[in-house]
Amino acid sequence: MPLSRRAFAQLLGTGAAAAALPRLVLAARPSGIVRLSANENPYGPSPAAIAALRDAFGLVARYPDEEADLLAADVAKLHGVSTDGVILGNGSSEILKLVAAAFTSSSRKLVMASPTFEAIARYARAGGAEAVTVPLDGSYAHDTAKMAAVAGAGVIYVCNPNNPTGSITPAATMRSLIESAAPSTMILVDEAYHHYAANPSYESVVPMVKTRPNLIVARTFSKIYGMAGLRAGYAVAQPEVIRKLDEQKAWDSMNVMALVAARASLADNAYVAEGRRKNSATKHDLVARLDGLGYKTIPSETNFVMIDLRREARAVIGAMRERRVHVGRVFPAMPRHLRVTIGTPEEMARFVEAFQEVVS
Ligand code: PLP
Repeated sequence: MPLSRRAFAQLLGTGAAAAALPRLVLAARPSGIVRLSANENPYGPSPAAIAALRDAFGLVARYPDEEADLLAADVAKLHGVSTDGVILGNGSSEILKLVAAAFTSSSRKLVMASPTFEAIARYARAGGAEAVTVPLDGSYAHDTAKMAAVAGAGVIYVCNPNNPTGSITPAATMRSLIESAAPSTMILVDEAYHHYAANPSYESVVPMVKTRPNLIVARTFSKIYGMAGLRAGYAVAQPEVIRKLDEQKAWDSMNVMALVAARASLADNAYVAEGRRKNSATKHDLVARLDGLGYKTIPSETNFVMIDLRREARAVIGAMRERRVHVGRVFPAMPRHLRVTIGTPEEMARFVEAFQEVVS
């Protein structure tokens, strides 16, 4: 008799335990390194996602089409769109790659901010496209007027909230960019840090997808959902755009474990709220500590902060590394700022201790 999924999990001794699963403690690696360099969520996936992962071992022999359909349906329901308005990706990085492949070329540029999340520039250049950068404005928002004025744009990429500055581009600015962009230019809004944004001027642009055929919104399960190692993301856009992205995509690029964990995560709103609260409390503590040490930070709507070092960041990053605290890399447009991810309170205590030693 074939084993049901639940029976299989019980066979592994996890069925009953799954309901009361302990939360993963991800921070402790044998190296003792405190990793505050990649804006991951130190608390990991929701217990419901971990239970779903354990229940899914019995599915790995099969291609993941059914689970992909189920996740696409959940995402569609969440955003009030039809399932043909959703595409899943092997992380939102894959979504960025698909957008670059489908909508940039040697004659259609990528327009992006400086500094911003750079991955899409790599993908666009690999396809022969020019990547044009436009500096953020004085409040670290995207300078959308200048971005929209670049001639020959295939894609305008807006990361909101922005990595690495942690700043937002206000809702009104986003709306006017999207409403005024040439129909031949795709606007890709990367909302990887959406759940952390608390500023009332921030707003997701997902609701605009219904009326804007040149808008794509990317989301990830790597941040608030704590699944960076599983690789899961998606985009929402009008069906014709999704079809063009799908033409570029490898079949079944999201694996079955990521799919089941993503579904369970989407259903666990309480875990999202808890993650947001913990991040905010730890971030406030860190900012206050840094303030006490005389260091200003850019107001952050994300799970990382940008610290004004008032000196070159490179040596500080190296000295922190020697103390086994990994922080963000040098960002050429802001070489005197240090980006640090918000970890657990214990990790941030290690960060502050090392930082004090390094800057004193
Ligand atoms: N977009 C932004 C703004 C990011 O900061 C990151 C990762 O740090 C990604 C996309 C990639 O996320 P994923 O893990 O979903 O590929």
